[in-house]
Amino acid sequence: MPTFLNDLNHRKSFFAKLTAMTVAALALGMAFPFIFALIADKAPFLAPILKVEGTELGAGVVLLPAGMLFLTLACVVLEALLLGYENSTLKRVLADDSASVKTDFLYLLLRISGLMMVFGLLFTLGGMYPAAGYLKNEFGFAFMRGTDNLALHFLAMAVLHTFINYWAHRFLHMKYLWQLHQVHHSAEHYNVLLPYRSHPMEFVIATLYGGFILGVLGIRPEALMLWLGINAVYQSMVHSNYDWKWKWVEYILITPAAHRIHHSTNPDHYNSNLGILSIWDRMFGTYIAPTPGEVIDLGLGQPDQKNYNTGHFFIEIIACFGRWLGLRKPA
Ligand SMILES: [Zn+2]
Ligand SMILES: [Zn+2]
Repeated sequence: MPTFLNDLNHRKSFFAKLTAMTVAALALGMAFPFIFALIADKAPFLAPILKVEGTELGAGVVLLPAGMLFLTLACVVLEALLLGYENSTLKRVLADDSASVKTDFLYLLLRISGLMMVFGLLFTLGGMYPAAGYLKNEFGFAFMRGTDNLALHFLAMAVLHTFINYWAHRFLHMKYLWQLHQVHHSAEHYNVLLPYRSHPMEFVIATLYGGFILGVLGIRPEALMLWLGINAVYQSMVHSNYDWKWKWVEYILITPAAHRIHHSTNPDHYNSNLGILSIWDRMFGTYIAPTPGEVIDLGLGQPDQKNYNTGHFFIEIIACFGRWLGLRKPA
């Protein structure tokens, strides 16, 4: 505790800057549904492209950025309690001048502020939500409409989402999508902000398969909200240096130690432990069990790593998109 207060004292103005940026991002994120509604009112032809992340949640859409921020902060505090301040994300953000962690923080703000979504709209020339809507309608089987049972809706979502997420992640590691997914893998330190560190085009991909899943299942908004919340906490804690002590969990979930192997620079570890459920990795032959005490270097390795954590956040995002399109040569 004294070290935390010391760091806070030394970095007062830096902490004030982080807080101001976070509040501004949250305000923007919560304002987007209103801004988009206003634009659509004045220019109705833009209405189909101007949806907002989480419209399925109805009025709850305004609270989505606040929910994401709240759960992330809760994970930051929980991790500091479990791991101790010295090894925590809190220390990394507050007192570590790592360019990689600053980039992680900016990706969190990009997501909360809704600018991740705006980049997604721009990169797809407005096609993101119409395409997701098309998939939702085209595959609108709504298999769950026969029951109201919340637990069943949640279970169906957990099984289908983790299955599709596994395969989407597997494709992200293949030739055509790897350039985009490098953003997530260019992180040099494990910390609970990492789930938000992904390129806006990866957000587009998740939005598209999200539309497909919602169409296929037709699940209740409460079950969707519950799944989103639990998955957000899981995604944060799986990127923590706090290792879960219960061995049995490894049979069901990818644990932090297993996901660290996924982030390894060692070629023997490439394309492993891709899932949320380790069940899918075991089933499809990509599971590598973590070895206790094994030290893992994180990142892409050279020459790709030098494209990231440069301190030019928005240029990195656009340059990555350019390399993916083939406009810019990979390093
Ligand atoms: Zn990956
Ligand atoms: Zn990761």
